[in-house]
Amino acid sequence: MIDTNSEKPKLFLRLGGHLHTVHMHRNMVRKNCFACGLYWQGLTHDLSKYSPSEFCPSVKYYQGYRSPYAYEKELLGYSAGWLHHKGRNRHHWEYWYDTLDGRWQHSH
Ligand SMILES: [Zn+2]
Repeated sequence: MIDTNSEKPKLFLRLGGHLHTVHMHRNMVRKNCFACGLYWQGLTHDLSKYSPSEFCPSVKYYQGYRSPYAYEKELLGYSAGWLHHKGRNRHHWEYWYDTLDGRWQHSH
């Protein structure tokens, strides 16, 4: 793939930025889950973001102002990281639905 993003931040900035984003997001989700008594969900939310399939593209396409997956989709027409994420995390409606027989329906 030809990388057309000449404004792309340096690797260590993308790495640090993405880690920070995930850390802040997980902190907020954990706090709110705990307030509802959802301790397991609070502790495990979005752990798949640390898997290589999600972590690597997220660092690669990190821009700092929108989801790296949005940028990946813009460049490639799809995001393998997002497909990995939504396929493993029940907190996304996309986990539960797919087009079967030509219409959207519950798939799990
Ligand atoms: Zn998620």
